[in-house]
Amino acid sequence: MPALILVRYGEIALKGKNRGYFEKALFNNLKSALRGFDASVNRAHGRFFVQGPAAAEQEIISRLSKVFGVVSVSSVQAAPLSLDAIKSAVLQLVENRATENGSFKVEARRANKSFPLTSPEINRIMGAAVLKKNPHLRVDLHDPSLRIFIEIGPKEAFVFSGHAAGPGGLPVGVTGRALLLLSGGIDSPVAGWMALKRGLALEAVHYHSYPFTSMRSREKVLDLCKHLALYGNGIKLHLISVTGIQKEIHDRCPPELGIILLRRMMLRLAEGIARKHRLQALVTGESLGQVASQTLESMAVISAVTPMLILRPLLGMDKHEIVTRAENIDTYEISIRPYEDCCTLFLPRRPATRPQLDKVLEAEAALDTDKLVEAALQESELKFIEP
Ligand code: ATP
Ligand code: MG
Repeated sequence: MPALILVRYGEIALKGKNRGYFEKALFNNLKSALRGFDASVNRAHGRFFVQGPAAAEQEIISRLSKVFGVVSVSSVQAAPLSLDAIKSAVLQLVENRATENGSFKVEARRANKSFPLTSPEINRIMGAAVLKKNPHLRVDLHDPSLRIFIEIGPKEAFVFSGHAAGPGGLPVGVTGRALLLLSGGIDSPVAGWMALKRGLALEAVHYHSYPFTSMRSREKVLDLCKHLALYGNGIKLHLISVTGIQKEIHDRCPPELGIILLRRMMLRLAEGIARKHRLQALVTGESLGQVASQTLESMAVISAVTPMLILRPLLGMDKHEIVTRAENIDTYEISIRPYEDCCTLFLPRRPATRPQLDKVLEAEAALDTDKLVEAALQESELKFIEP
């Protein structure tokens, strides 16, 4: 028998006029998360139902629980609306899931009020049937080892034993498209995940200084992107060399402003990509107060270079919260691989923490920024990262 998986969604159900649009997006995202599986997706009564091969059930559940907009998923057994049919589904579930000498609790919910029995009546009848067939089990209403959920729907009943949590949020794509500045660090993959969670479809850009940064550090970024791609339906990654730009900054500008100037160049490049690919905002992993370039003064001087909206989803998070999130989405272990980042090249001993815009503009006048941007964009490399 194929596996049947019930997919619940939350926030999008609330969105009034947008509801149809959001549901359609979620439907498409569920389908693309299941690409490669012989699975179908259908919507009924405010949920989705996925059918697929029983052998792939666990993997399908793991994919579905990474789709933003999904609140929870359960592997269910469907039964016609008759007591006998429901009873045999319940007994089947107990046979599959109950542990030796364990305890259980039946929790029925009657969404369909035309069903002739109340929820407590269903609980009693099903509980008695389980005990009769499995006298070694006992009922525990507070801390059972097996919960048996029964949902009486309009056309059929569903029997299941639990939920896997989804990530919540909004379906990717419904709020727009943005460009993630993806370093090899801990923060920016988490920032990307949080932007995806709010319904943004992402492309990503990574700046490298090959050959000063190694192929290993490039692989690290590709691996990070692969993990984000699981949540984001695949991600286009732009790889851009800033080696030439860094040399120019190093040769022509005061060392204490090096990082600020490089960051401004990164934003110019990002803006160029965003305009070309019709991306509406930039997303960074910046927080506040972490490093010299993340003081309010530095951030103001850096972001003054572009009129584009810059989103910083990590602003309100402590480092340990960011690390915990990175662990949950499996990017942490990749991020802590020890390969160098382009920003650590030519790192000044005393970077400015309170740069002044006029001084920065003065220093920047030594650079032909338009030409540098154009040259770097021309050499940029584009990769599509599959989930
Ligand atoms: P991360 O862990 O994301 O590298 P961080 O705390 O180390 O962040 P910074 O190194 O100051 O902070 O970088 C701030 C943000 O600038 C990063 O989160 C990222 O969005 C962007 N950024 C930094 N370096 C790069 C890079 N090489 N390529 C693309 N974006 C970068
Ligand atoms: Mg960094």
